[in-house]
Formats: sequence, C-alpha cells, structure tokens
Amino acid sequence: MRIFDPHIHMTSRTTDDYEAMYAAGVRAVVEPAFWLGQPRTSPASFLDYFDSLLGWEPFRAAQYGIAHHCTLALNPKEANDPRCTPVLDELPRYLVKDNVVAVGEIGYDSMTPAEDAAFAAQLQLAADHGLPALVHTPHRDKLAGLRRTLDVVRESALPLDRVLVDHLNETTVKEAKDSGCWLGFSVYPDTKMDEERMVAILRDHGPERVLVNSAADWGKSDPLKTRKVADLMLAEGFTEDDVDRVLWRNPVAFYGLSGRLDLDVTATDATHEGNSILRGVPRDEPRPAGVPDTEA
Ligand SMILES: [Zn+2]
Repeated sequence: MRIFDPHIHMTSRTTDDYEAMYAAGVRAVVEPAFWLGQPRTSPASFLDYFDSLLGWEPFRAAQYGIAHHCTLALNPKEANDPRCTPVLDELPRYLVKDNVVAVGEIGYDSMTPAEDAAFAAQLQLAADHGLPALVHTPHRDKLAGLRRTLDVVRESALPLDRVLVDHLNETTVKEAKDSGCWLGFSVYPDTKMDEERMVAILRDHGPERVLVNSAADWGKSDPLKTRKVADLMLAEGFTEDDVDRVLWRNPVAFYGLSGRLDLDVTATDATHEGNSILRGVPRDEPRPAGVPDTEA
C-alpha cells in the first residue's frame, strides 16, 4: 500500500514518526505552512520557517524514504496580526521555488476583515504563480465558514477545481462537493473526523476528489491516521483500488496541478548545510578515547 499524506506538519514531529510512517506505507507528504502555537512577531520568523520547509524538512524526510513538498502562505490566524502581514510582500519570491506545490494554508480562522484581505490576496498569488491553493475552513460555525470561503474563491481568479478545501465533515461535504473543489478531511484522535466517520462519508459521497490527511502537528494528533483510514476502508469492503485512489492518486492529481510534484526520493546526502540528523558519533564508527560504546 502506498500512502500520500497531503497535510501534515512534520516540523512538529520526530524521526520516530518518519520511521513509523514509512513502515505504514507513507511515501510522500505535503507540509503546509501554519501557525506554530507561539505567535510570531515579525516576517523574519516566517522566512526562516519557509526556508526550513524548503530545505531541512525535505532533507529529513528523504533520510526515511519519504518525498516532502510544502505549501507556503500567511496562515489565517496570524493574518490578524499587523506584525505578521508584511510577509505577504515576501511570498512571491518563495512561491517560485520548485518544492512549493500550492499556496496554503489560507482561508478563515475567525472570519475577520483582516482574514478576508489576506485570503483574497493569496488566492490572487496562487493564480499569478500557476499554483493550486490549500484552504483551511474554520473549526467553529463550519457551514457558514464554508459558504463564505466558497464565495471568496468564486470572486477570485482561481477556479474551484484548483482549490482543496480542508477540514470538511458531514455538515460541509455536500456543499463543498457541489462547488467542484477538491475535498480534504483531517482525521484526528479525539476531535474532528475519526476513521469510522471518514469511511461513512466515503460510502455516502464516493472517493472522487477526496483527500484524507492526518494534519498531525504539535497538538494531540496521529501521523498514522491515513493508514488507519485505509485499513478500515478495506475492512468495510472498499477495494484496494479505492484505497489507492483516495490515499495516493487523488493527492498526486491535486498537487500535480502545480507541475512541480517530484515523487522520486533521491536525496540521500548525509548532511544538509553541514548538519545531520544524527546525534553524536554513529555506533559503528570508532569512538574517541574515553567515550563508552553506549554513547550515541
Ligand atoms: Zn494544518
């Protein structure tokens, strides 16, 4: 089984997660730029973060046989902070980079005028750069949030068939599907969708344009949720072809709209800008005098 997690924040995860994801069948991920929990206070913090999503994180993923791409944007929450919004002027020079496969996460958090402005501006940036967009929908008041989201996209230069609307559930799936956008579902341990609800939605609405992600980050989340959905789909009578479509071909098709998706994991350099993921001297290399063999 091959799995593509189309929305996961690996910056917040450990190498153990990469190892377990590979063992579960994950061969590709997309990491959207997002809010880090601690508010940023200047555009410079975003730029270092973007560089890490373009350099260090794909390097780290490649050590575990996983292809890593990213989406870049000013996230909806921090669109409300005037200390952060100047990053919009820096985005164009980042959106031309090879590893960027969409603009995102953009959209609404609290549906403020500042979020309106950042959302519209970034849909235009996506259209200007020939990129699709990953759109986050609010966790509260979901149907109103979805309707307003779709209205803003319809007024933009970006067609709905180049937009992935994420964090959908039973209340929003039908309207989203009718709009012609791609349909994203985040499967979490305790909140939002779980595996059973996800499989029920697939049964009711079909696998067309559906993408399933773990959205794993620094909060309570599980980077193996994609595999757990795949296993439950098979147990509930879906075919292996259905699973491959939802968990591989649909994300490949959506992010492939960028023309930049490269799923060959070739980078096996041991270091990135002189730094490796190893801590200390590898066990099979000679130790310096006095260092016990047990030290890694
Ligand atoms: Zn996210």
